[in-house]
Amino acid sequence: MVSLGCPKNLVDSERILGQLRQEGYQMSPDYAGADVVLVNTCGFLDSAKEESLEAIGEAIAENGRVIVTGCMGSEAEAIRARFPGVLAVTGAHQYEQVVEAVHAAAPPFRSPYLDLVPGGAVEITDLKLTPRHYSYLKISEGCNHRCSFCIIPSLRGDLVSRRPDAILREAEKLVAAGTRELLVISQDTSAYGIDIRREPRMWKGQEVVPAMTDLARELGRIAPWVRLHYVYPYPHVDSVIPLMADGLVLPYLDIPFQHASPSVLKRMKRPANDAKVLERIRGWRSVCPDIAIRSTFVVGFPGETEEDFQYLLDWLDEAQLDRVGAFRFEPVEGAAANFLPDPVPEEVKEERYARIMERTAAISAAKLAAKVGRTLPVIIDAVDEEGGATGRSQADAPEIDGEVFLRDAGHLSVGDIVSVEIEDADEHDLYGVPGSK
Ligand code: SF4
Repeated sequence: MVSLGCPKNLVDSERILGQLRQEGYQMSPDYAGADVVLVNTCGFLDSAKEESLEAIGEAIAENGRVIVTGCMGSEAEAIRARFPGVLAVTGAHQYEQVVEAVHAAAPPFRSPYLDLVPGGAVEITDLKLTPRHYSYLKISEGCNHRCSFCIIPSLRGDLVSRRPDAILREAEKLVAAGTRELLVISQDTSAYGIDIRREPRMWKGQEVVPAMTDLARELGRIAPWVRLHYVYPYPHVDSVIPLMADGLVLPYLDIPFQHASPSVLKRMKRPANDAKVLERIRGWRSVCPDIAIRSTFVVGFPGETEEDFQYLLDWLDEAQLDRVGAFRFEPVEGAAANFLPDPVPEEVKEERYARIMERTAAISAAKLAAKVGRTLPVIIDAVDEEGGATGRSQADAPEIDGEVFLRDAGHLSVGDIVSVEIEDADEHDLYGVPGSK
């Protein structure tokens, strides 16, 4: 399995592998040992598509028997034209079709033991690609928005929410298997449940409403750490903040703002594009002072003027976000934004990118410096042989945020959640020493 792209794709890979594993298939650590190679592709940006095509080419060259799945499955003809030898091409979330293609390419070994395993819909994720102590939990597919730079809705369709009881059951299984931190993902976590009309489901003798706050509360009762990703600043998001203040959900929100200037946001067709966002953030901080907000921004969107960009920098000074990632606008084949007038020249994009990175790095560094001397809970991701360990504070999601480097931590284990006295900080990371478990 070669899994490309975002955490959502990783969850798909885990589900496919979970099903195959139940049927008795095994993973090969290399191309040579595999009967068939699955490439789970990403088609979000043109550069991601190119990376996916390269991965398919490499798998064909190294093994020859290749099944393609994921977002690029919607471009089967283009894939077949370039690689006539691929065995099958299936789209995103077509778990059954991928599994059928594997059955055809490498028929399963039947045994009376395996035949006892129930087939049908893929529910169980018993093989994980993420480390055991944290897991991505996908709560819905697709998106009802139509942001002008994005082709996800045309690739993945409109919002389809999972039933809350199915999500909670999966969460319990993950925690029973060693997960300490659940990372809730979807295209728009704040929209969870609107397509299923917030119709309650029974869970452990009580009704659970499919809505972000209700789900987050239940998940917080199951896992030690629950982190919410891809939330938009709708008014109803205010109701999840008290759960953060109470310690039931991590005080962390990943909100992809993408810009702040009203005219750019309008051209981007962004959801929850509300001039009152700064007020909302201030309100959240008054309820939960420790809340960490991470976001991403696009610079050089068509029509972005120096005034728009300056508005964004001023907004960032006010918002004081904890973590910021920035991208230079890149047209994606099939996106409406490609037809907008007034493209921003590449050198201007570069210059704005450098400016936003410099500004946000200074904010992040100051926020991290303010943590020196405090004692913070940290989850351990790795322990080395020299007595050190690496972990993350509640403000750090894996892979995208910073880390906490620990000394005198050889006694700890991966997945431990420990109190750490913070001794130092730099632009991205913290340094400290563990106290008690
Ligand atoms: S919210 Fe916008 S950017 Fe995100 S998936 Fe939906 S359309 Fe794409």
